[in-house]
Parts: sequence; structure tokens; C-alpha cells
Amino acid sequence: MYQLLRTEGRAKRAEFTTVHGTVQTPLFMNVGTVGAIKGAVSTEDLKDLGCQIQLSNTYHLHVRTGDETIRELGGLHKFMVWDRPILTDSGGFQVFSLAGLRKIREEGVTFHSHIDGHKIFMGPEESMQIQSNLGSTIAMAFDECPDALSERDYVQKSVDRTYRWLVRCKEEMVRLNSLEGAVNPHQMLFGINQGAIFPDIRIEHARRITELDLPGYAIGGLAVGESHEQMYQILDEVIPYLPQDKPTYLMGVGTPQNILEAVERGVDFFDCVYPSRNARHGQLYTHQGKINIKNARYERDMAPIEEGCRCPTCRTYSRAYIRHLMKANEMLGMRLCVMHNLFFYNHLMEEIRDALDQGCFAEFKRQTLAKMEENGRHE
Ligand SMILES: [Zn+2]
Repeated sequence: MYQLLRTEGRAKRAEFTTVHGTVQTPLFMNVGTVGAIKGAVSTEDLKDLGCQIQLSNTYHLHVRTGDETIRELGGLHKFMVWDRPILTDSGGFQVFSLAGLRKIREEGVTFHSHIDGHKIFMGPEESMQIQSNLGSTIAMAFDECPDALSERDYVQKSVDRTYRWLVRCKEEMVRLNSLEGAVNPHQMLFGINQGAIFPDIRIEHARRITELDLPGYAIGGLAVGESHEQMYQILDEVIPYLPQDKPTYLMGVGTPQNILEAVERGVDFFDCVYPSRNARHGQLYTHQGKINIKNARYERDMAPIEEGCRCPTCRTYSRAYIRHLMKANEMLGMRLCVMHNLFFYNHLMEEIRDALDQGCFAEFKRQTLAKMEENGRHE
């Protein structure tokens, strides 16, 4: 259940109650591709880092270890030892981007596993069955994410098929949830808006999927090659056609700047690989912009990554030591960097929620962006 607590302009501050607990929005979901955050971060660490929802990739879990096995072991929550909400993607994005040769038909997609090349078929029913076996809190609809540069005709055809797939996802989920022995009989389905950079196609699609009365809606197919300005414009045009009294999830976005802009436009769920991926390369977020910890200037710097940061890394370790570990390719260096960046993102969302609670989000956004840009070293 989604309870809207406050709004400021289009920005939403809400509470979302699931069978795995209540979360506060706007929020950032931490991406654990194969049931773990890359960088040796455990589920226990994630609680210290303020993570409210973990995101796991259906495709990866399906091809390695396998959803049937995870189901037999009691589902993904038990497998990963995580009792808070989990969102699983549909596998569609990986199928369309990772898998080399593929064939799309009305029934679904045939492709080859990136691990051993064996042929796999996935359609809406298969995606729902895999996510049901995993028992995630929120399952995502199986959709096609057309290239941002696709021709209008192709995008229209693809979006129409994605709508038909959504209807099939919904029917299949109702069936799976009613089965005796379902890992999570309260599993929720979120629909996904598509339409590349064509506002009219996206608006029409948003209208149709809203009629299906799902518990939440995502905006997919952005941050895949279009400019930031184009992305903000699409959000401006499409979000008014999605229900305000349900979660609005912007998939795969983005930088702290993107998040602030999207919150202002009414988005309240985010996920992105930037914080963990950048951390693994020594790129660390601070309120004064991004720093590169491998830079020689930190060789004798005994200050934490960011003064005043309450993350497990900054509470204990210095820039000099972390730089040393990263230069020596020690696993601990990567782990400390990932923990700082995930904390930074989760904490930024906490600051955004506080600002919304106090009715001063617009001012918070202006100041935060100014600080990041003025001092941004972009090392
Ligand atoms: Zn820190």
C-alpha cells in the first residue's frame, strides 16, 4: 500500500508498505546483480548503509544457480538472508542487451545464454514464473526496451507488443500467486512505460497501462543514449499520466543531479549501477563533487573520504590508506569505496526526504546542485 505523505510541486514523499516491511520514498535501490553487490558487500553491510530495497537481476539468477533451486531453498530472501523488500527486474533488459543472437516474436524472445550459449526462451509467462520462484516483493513486467534511436514505426509496434505482454504478465501473476506453495503469494507487479523519445507514444502507453490498476509503475528506456534534457522533458510530459497515488520508478537512473531533477518531477524509486561501478574504479561521491581516490594528491591525506560522512568507511579509514589499497588492487579497497558510495546515495535520499518533510525541497535541490557543481573537481 502506498501512502502519499506530502507533496511539493510534483515531488512526492510517501510510505510504501509491503509484505516485507515499510519503506520511505523517495528511495534508492541498491543493485545486487547476482544476489550480491559487486565489491564484497554483504546483506549485513547493506543494513548499515541504509539500503531499503535490494534489486536483483532475474536473468542472471536464472542462468546461474537457477530460480528452481532458489525456490527449493526457500526463495531469494532466505537464500540471501535479507528480510527487507527485494525488487527483481524481468530479465528483459539483459535479454535484449547482453544476449547476442535473439529473435523476438509475439510469444517472447529466444536467445543464447551468455554463460554457456545454450538456447533459452523467455516470454511474459516465463519471466513471471522465474520471479515467482525467486519470491521477490516486487516483480517487474517483461517488456522490450527499444533503442533510444529507433525509428518511430518500430517503437510503436514494440510498445503495442509490450502492452500485450503486460496483460499476460498480470494474468500469469494472479495465477502464480494463487498456487499453493507460492514463495510469496503477495508478490506485486509493476508495469513499465516505454516509447523511446516519442512523448505521444509514451503518453498513450501510460494511459493504457494505468487502466490495468497495478500497484506501481516504472518509466523504462531512458538513460540509454538520449541527452539529460531529453530525459527531463519526457518525465515532464509522461509523469502526469501515471497515477500519483502509486510508486513512480525511473529505471537505471542515474547521477545525484539526475535524481534531484527526477524527484522534482515526481519520481520516487531509483536504481543505478553508478555508485558501485564508480567505486570499483576509485571514483567517490561527495557533496563537493566526485573525487578520484587514486589521485597522487591523497597519498599523505589522513582525512576521511568526506569530512562528516557517517558511513562505515569514513568513520574509520583515511583517504591515504584507501588510496594505498586501491593502488595495490586489494579487495578491501574496493569494498570500502563501494560502501562509501552506496551510503552516499542512500543518505542523499534521506536528505531529500527530510527536505520534502520540511517543505524545502526546492531550496535543498538548488543548494546541493550548486555545491556539487561549484566545487566539483571531477577528477
Ligand atoms: Zn563515507
